[in-house]
Amino acid sequence: MYLSMDRNATAKIRLYVEHTLGQGQSVPLSREQAHYLFGVMRLRVGAHVLLFDGQSGEWRAEVVEAGKRGGLLVVEEQTKLMQMPPDLWLLFAPIKKARTDFIVEKAVEMGVARIVPVQTDFTNSGRIQRDRLQAHASEAAEQCGGTYVPEVTEMRRLDRILADWDTKRRIMFCDETQVDLQPNLLPQKGPWAVLIGPEGGFSPDERDRMQKLAHTHPVSLGPRILRADTAAVAALTFWQLQMGDWT
Ligand code: SAH
Repeated sequence: MYLSMDRNATAKIRLYVEHTLGQGQSVPLSREQAHYLFGVMRLRVGAHVLLFDGQSGEWRAEVVEAGKRGGLLVVEEQTKLMQMPPDLWLLFAPIKKARTDFIVEKAVEMGVARIVPVQTDFTNSGRIQRDRLQAHASEAAEQCGGTYVPEVTEMRRLDRILADWDTKRRIMFCDETQVDLQPNLLPQKGPWAVLIGPEGGFSPDERDRMQKLAHTHPVSLGPRILRADTAAVAALTFWQLQMGDWT
C-alpha cells in the first residue's frame, strides 16, 4: 500500500490486489486494506485509488463503500497497460533479514520476473519467510509504479536448482574471485538469471560446478568485494544495461 505522486502532483494511492481487474469490476477490500485506505489515509466514499493485479495493467477505481473492517471499490478505467519485466530471474542467497528485504525490494524496482532464494554451502540463513518477502515485493511494485509483482519462490538448495535447470536460461554468475575477468560482456539475449552468493561467498565446489556449466557466464562486478545486497543491485544494473528494458 503506497502513496505516490502523479505528474499533476495529486496524491495517488496505488494498491496491489489479488483480484482480476476490468472495467466495472467490484473489488472487495481486506480488513488490512480497509484499515489503510480509510483509517490511515482517511479516504471516503467517492475517492479514487489506482489498482493493479499483476496481469492486466493499472486501473482507476472509486471507493463505493468504506468501513472499518472492509469496503468496496469499483473499477472505472484503465490508466496503464500491463508492462512485463524482462525475462530475468534473481537467484540470491538470503542474508540478514533487513538486507534480504532490501534485495527483494531493489530487485522489483530494477525489473525482474522472479526472485529465487537459494541455499548455498555458505548461506547464512537456513530459512526464509516467503510470505513476508512476497509482501515486500508487492509493496515495492506499488511504490515504483510497476504493474507486475515477481513471484518470490520457496528457498531451494543451489545444487537441486542446478540439477533441474532449463539450460535455455543462461546464468550470470557473479563470482567475487573473477576480478580480472575480461571482457565482461554477456553473449546473447533470451531468458537469463543472475546469481549472487552469500556473505561467505561460494564454496570451491560450487564455483567448480558453476564454471563447468555451458549455460553459465561468470562475471566480475569490479575490483572491490561488494556486500551481497550491493552486488544484487550492481548485477541487475549491469544486466539491464546490456540486455534489459532500459533502452
Ligand atoms: N566473502 C566473500 C565475498 C562475498 S560477497 C569474500 O570475501 O570473498 C557476496 C556475493 O556478492 C558474492 O558471492 C558474489 O556473488 C557477489 N560479489 C561481490 N563482489 C563481487 C565482485 N567484485 N564481482 C562479482 N561478484 C561479486
